[in-house]
Amino acid sequence: MSVEENLQRIQERINNAANVAGRNPEDIHIVAVTKYVTIERAEEAVKAGIKHLGENRLEGAMEKYEAIGDQVSWHFIGSLQSRKVKDMIHAYDYIHSLDRTSLAKEINKRSEEGQTVKCFVQVNVSGEESKAGLAPAQTLEFIETLKKYPAVEVVGLMTMAPYEEKPEKVRDYFRNLKHLRDEVRLQGFPHAPCKELSMGMSNDFEIAVEEGATFIRVGSSLVGEE
Ligand SMILES: *Cc1c(COP(=O)(O)O)cnc(C)c1O
Repeated sequence: MSVEENLQRIQERINNAANVAGRNPEDIHIVAVTKYVTIERAEEAVKAGIKHLGENRLEGAMEKYEAIGDQVSWHFIGSLQSRKVKDMIHAYDYIHSLDRTSLAKEINKRSEEGQTVKCFVQVNVSGEESKAGLAPAQTLEFIETLKKYPAVEVVGLMTMAPYEEKPEKVRDYFRNLKHLRDEVRLQGFPHAPCKELSMGMSNDFEIAVEEGATFIRVGSSLVGEE
């Protein structure tokens, strides 16, 4: 299946889910997750109209960035070791996996003068041990402390729901992330406008859209998993 055909289907499903929730489909951005596929397939996604590409490991991330460059926005969606920040920060527009102070400190240190890096704070809403992210109860306090790092702009919250055969089962996790986002937003922190919600993957993006996702991260159902 071509990326273009897949994208068309996914866009229709987004439109329907947005409709159900009374949302504008234009408020939902698709991050094409290309971690499983070749540079050529990622380029096909760009040709099909994708504006955001996501990678979770540094090697693939930089290889694709070098080939494709700044015609799209780049999203780092995987766990990020602090010592690797210096190798990717010039290329990546968004980091979806900010989950600790040491990482914020490094982003701040390695960013260029005046550069702000759009970060999502990753929250482990389901509480699964295998998942990265902060506990919901620690999130607000953590975000408050990030004001020490002027290069870090908290644009939103991110979560990964557990895989469920019936995606309906993860609805509450998405809803809880949205409530937490609203709570952060209400604080009016200048360094943390926190308007965005990065949630929803191939298996559960419609539920995520119904619950308020503004960035969905879609890999296998869009570009495949070659
Ligand atoms: C791999 C990955 C995705 C995409 O997963 P699919 O199920 O293939 O859509 C989304 N988010 C993160 C953080 C990932 O690692």
